[in-house]
Amino acid sequence: MRVYIIGAGPGDPRLLTLRAADLISSCPVILYTGSLVPKEVLARAGKDAQVLDSSGMNLDQIMEVIVKARDAEQDVARVHTGDPVIFGSTAEQIRRLQELQIAYEIIPGVSSFTAAAAALGRELTLPELSQTIILTRAEGRTPMPDKQKLEDLAQHRATLALFLSITMIRSVAESLVPAYGKECPVAVVHKASWPDQVIVRGTLSDIAEKVREARINSIAMVLIGWVLTADDFANSRLYDPEFTHRFRKGTKAPTEVSIEGPTA
Ligand code: SAH
Repeated sequence: MRVYIIGAGPGDPRLLTLRAADLISSCPVILYTGSLVPKEVLARAGKDAQVLDSSGMNLDQIMEVIVKARDAEQDVARVHTGDPVIFGSTAEQIRRLQELQIAYEIIPGVSSFTAAAAALGRELTLPELSQTIILTRAEGRTPMPDKQKLEDLAQHRATLALFLSITMIRSVAESLVPAYGKECPVAVVHKASWPDQVIVRGTLSDIAEKVREARINSIAMVLIGWVLTADDFANSRLYDPEFTHRFRKGTKAPTEVSIEGPTA
């Protein structure tokens, strides 16, 4: 018996991994986070499978379901949204599984931050502009650890992907202006990859107002950084004709060759 902690992806059932799809089809017990996993993902469950929504359960109740399945020697598909290792509250379940000596395995999924970037059609890392993505959240009821407040992280001017933060968009934007500037681009993607996906684009100075007008107050990824609009970035070395790497020998530009003749 094993518990499979599965990333169900951002919403579109076609973004399930093949492993996730196989396990959801074959596990006799399926425990899913109902608030964000769409019904279509569960449609592939076996007709005799027990399919339970965990959104109204506390940790003890979730563990009760798992222990019962263990006693009946039934595998459990524990289905989480996006990728289970990012803001998944999976660690506390894993700790209990370890205490109970129940075997588990994590199946990665497409996270909502990459699905949001895909919806925008943008790369989040660009040469010389941002080589770092910070995945974080605004401080809410969960306090931020020391040195991880948005104002601290902003000092890096990295691309920011904010989970669980849409209701705090006004204070988020205000706290980032000193480091990123008022005109820094922001994109909010509501329900990335769902049929009713909504994209709102703006800057740190106007995004809060635009989000309010669009009435977005849940299931939204906030992406911030100049990578969202820049088109004057440097090319990467990977496809530079002169750059040699393991899979390709670079050629020197003709002008450079002629200059580099043998010297007396
Ligand atoms: N493990 C998930 C995140 C869970 S926390 C992942 O990897 O994506 C829940 C937060 O994720 C939401 O508040 C929202 O910020 C984001 N989120 C989840 N699904 C989303 C989607 N389809 N579109 C935009 N944001 C989403």
